[in-house]
Amino acid sequence: MRDLITRSRLMLFATALICYGIATSVHTTSGMNPPANQSVITDASTAALLAKWAGPYSGVPPFDSVKVAEFKPALEAGMAENLAEVQRIASNTAAPNFENTIEALERAGRTLDRVTTIYGVWGSTMNGPEFQVVQREMAPKLAAFSDQITQNEALFRRIEAVYNSPEKARLTPEQQRLTWRYYTNFVRAGARLEKDAKARLSEINQKLAGLYTRFSQNVLAEETDQFLVLKTEEELAGLPQSVRDGATAAAAAKKMPGTWVIMNTRSSVDPFLTYSDRRDLREKAWRMFVNRGDNGGEHDNNAIITEILQLRAERAKLLGYQTHAHWRLENAMAKTPERAVELMEAVWKPAVARVHEEVADMQALARKEGANIKIEPWDYRYYAEKVRKARYDLDQNEVKQYLQLEKLREGMFWVAGELFGFNFTPVTNVPVYHPDVRVWEVTDKKTKRHIGLWYFDPYARSGKRSGAWMNAYRSQERFDGEVTTIVSNNANFVKGQPGEPVLISWDDAETLFHEFGHALHGLNSNVRYPSLSGTAVARDYVEFPSQLMEHWLSTPQVLQRFAVHYKTGKPIPQALVDRINRASTFNEGFATTEYLSAALIDMKMHLAGAQKIDPDAFEKKTLADLGMPDELVMRHRTPHFLHVFAGDSYSAGYYSYLWSDVLTADAFGAFVEAGGPYDRAVAERLRKHIFSVGNTIDPAEAYRGFRGRDARTEALMRKRGFPTTGSK
Ligand SMILES: [Zn+2]
Repeated sequence: MRDLITRSRLMLFATALICYGIATSVHTTSGMNPPANQSVITDASTAALLAKWAGPYSGVPPFDSVKVAEFKPALEAGMAENLAEVQRIASNTAAPNFENTIEALERAGRTLDRVTTIYGVWGSTMNGPEFQVVQREMAPKLAAFSDQITQNEALFRRIEAVYNSPEKARLTPEQQRLTWRYYTNFVRAGARLEKDAKARLSEINQKLAGLYTRFSQNVLAEETDQFLVLKTEEELAGLPQSVRDGATAAAAAKKMPGTWVIMNTRSSVDPFLTYSDRRDLREKAWRMFVNRGDNGGEHDNNAIITEILQLRAERAKLLGYQTHAHWRLENAMAKTPERAVELMEAVWKPAVARVHEEVADMQALARKEGANIKIEPWDYRYYAEKVRKARYDLDQNEVKQYLQLEKLREGMFWVAGELFGFNFTPVTNVPVYHPDVRVWEVTDKKTKRHIGLWYFDPYARSGKRSGAWMNAYRSQERFDGEVTTIVSNNANFVKGQPGEPVLISWDDAETLFHEFGHALHGLNSNVRYPSLSGTAVARDYVEFPSQLMEHWLSTPQVLQRFAVHYKTGKPIPQALVDRINRASTFNEGFATTEYLSAALIDMKMHLAGAQKIDPDAFEKKTLADLGMPDELVMRHRTPHFLHVFAGDSYSAGYYSYLWSDVLTADAFGAFVEAGGPYDRAVAERLRKHIFSVGNTIDPAEAYRGFRGRDARTEALMRKRGFPTTGSK
C-alpha cells in the first residue's frame, strides 16, 4: 500500500510517515522570525539543523550539512525552545483569547519542526546503524516531550477557555475549527486526567515509542539482511529481462558479482513470484517475505506486538474509551469501529467469493499444463498472470515496455497542469540528501506564481524503507505571511542498468500517481494555519485525493502521449489499452481480500481489549473465523505490519484505504457524468472543495460541497467488479 507522511504541530496530533515506514515526528514550524530563544542554541555544531532554512524559495532543507551525531543535541535544543515558548503562553497573565493562546501555539515550535522534518527524512530514507542508536534514544524522549505539553494544566485551561468562550462565535470558521482541534486533541491526549493517571499515560507513551522504534528497526533489519541469491541460469527460469537486470543491480550493490539477488522487499519479491518458473524458489522467496519479523531471534516482533496491544488497551481505558479502536476512530470520518467494520464486511463476502473463482481458474489452467499441484500462496501471482494472458491476451511485460518511469512522471506533471494549472520546472540549486533525489519547482501556469517544491526520491537502496510514501517538509500557510509548501514523493523502484530507462509495472505506475495525488493535496493547499494544511486531515479521508489521482493514469490522454514504447517511442496501441481496460477488475478478489484481511485483523486486534494476544495465534484464528481462503495471505502480516505497529497513526486505521476508496470511486463518477476526466468545471470544484481546504472544514461537508450529496458505495463495488445489489 502506498502512503504519506503526515506531521503535525505537536506530536499528539501527528506523527508520521506512512506506508511501510512510520517515523515519528513532531511538527512545529518556522515563522518569519528567527528562532525565538537564542539561549538554547549554544552548540555551534547543531547550527545547520536549528537555523531557519536558507537559500531560494524562502529557504530549503539543508540536506547537505546534516551530521547524524547532531540530531540528538539539535532535537534537545528544539524541544527546550518549544517548551519555553509553551511555558510563556501558559503563564501569560492576560486573559486567554484566540490570539494569545491558539495562534501563539501555532507560532511556537518552529525550530523543532525543522529539526524533526530532517530527522524524519533520515529515519525513512537514510537509516543506518549510527542513526538507529539515536532513534532508540530519542523516540521515548520525544513522546515524553509531547506529553509535557498536553499535560500542562495552565495551558489546557487557556485552550479550554478559548474553546468555551462566547467570543469564539466571532472567529472565522477556520479559526473555530483550529480551536476545536486544539481542544479535542488535548482532551484526547489526556489533558483532563488526574495527576497519577497522567503520569501513567506518559509512561505508556514513552514505552510505546520505544517499542515502535524497535518494531520498525527489526523489520528493516530483516528486509536488509535477508535476500535470495540466484546462482545459475536455471534459477532465473521465467524471469523477464527487467527482473534480471534489477537482480543484477542488487547483486552489484551487495558486492556479489556473478549472482542475481532478489531483495526482501515487495518491489523485488512480487515480480519474482509473478514470473519465476521455479516453484521451489517461489516458495522460498514467499516464505522469506511473509515471515519478516516472525523468525524468532533478535529481530522477532511477536512479543513486541503483544506488549504494544496491551499498552494501547490500557491507555484507551485510562482515557475513557472502550478500546484503542474507539479512541482512534472518534475523530475519523467513520467515527466508530462498528461503521468501519460494517463497510469491510460488506465488501469481504463478494471479495472472497471472487477469490474462489480465481483459484478455480488457476487450478484448471495448472491442470491443463500438466502440473499436478494444489494452488498455494506462492503460486497465486504466477498462475494469475497466466490466466490473465490466456483470458485477456494481456501480458504485463508487454505493457511494461510502454511504462517508462520518467515518461510517466512527465505524464503526471501534464495531468497536474490540466487539472490544477501547475507547471513543473527542474531545479538544481537546492541541496539533496542523496544523488538519486531530484527537485522541481511548481508554479502557476498562468500567473507564474511560485507554488512550492516537489522532491522525488524514486529508487530502492539500503537504509530506505520499502514501499512508497509522500512527505511534506514544509506545509503551506499564510498566517504570518505566505509560506509555500515543500513536498516529496518516495518510492522503491528497482533502478536497473545505468543509462537504461526504468520500466515499471502497471501497479507501480498506479502507485506513482497515488503518491503524486498526496503531493498535489499538499501543493494545492490554500489555508491560513499550518496545523490545518494540506494532508493534515482525518486518516480515513487522506487516501481519497491520492486514490482519486490513480484514475488519471488510464485516461487516453495520458496513455497516448506518455505511455510510449521505450525503444520505438510509439504510443501504446489502442488494442492493448482495450485489453487493459477489459482486464481492469481481473484478480480483484485477490487484491481486495489480501488488503481486507489485513485491515480486519488490525481492527479486531484493537477491539479485543486488554487480553494478552499471541499475534500468530490471533491471526490464525481470526482468519479462520472470517473464512480466509488458504491460497493467499494478508497483505501485511502482523509481525511486519508497519502501518499499525511502527506508530499510532494507522493503527485501527488500515481500513482507511477502503473508506477513502468509497469516496474515490464515487468522486470519479462526477467527472464521468460531466465531460470526462479533464472537465474544467469538475476539476475546479475538486480543487475548491477537496484539494485546497486541508482540514479547515469537516470532510463529509467538504465532500458534499464537491458532489452535492454523500458518497454511495455502488461505485466502489462496480470499480472492483463486485455485485452492487444490497449496497447503498
Ligand atoms: Zn496513500
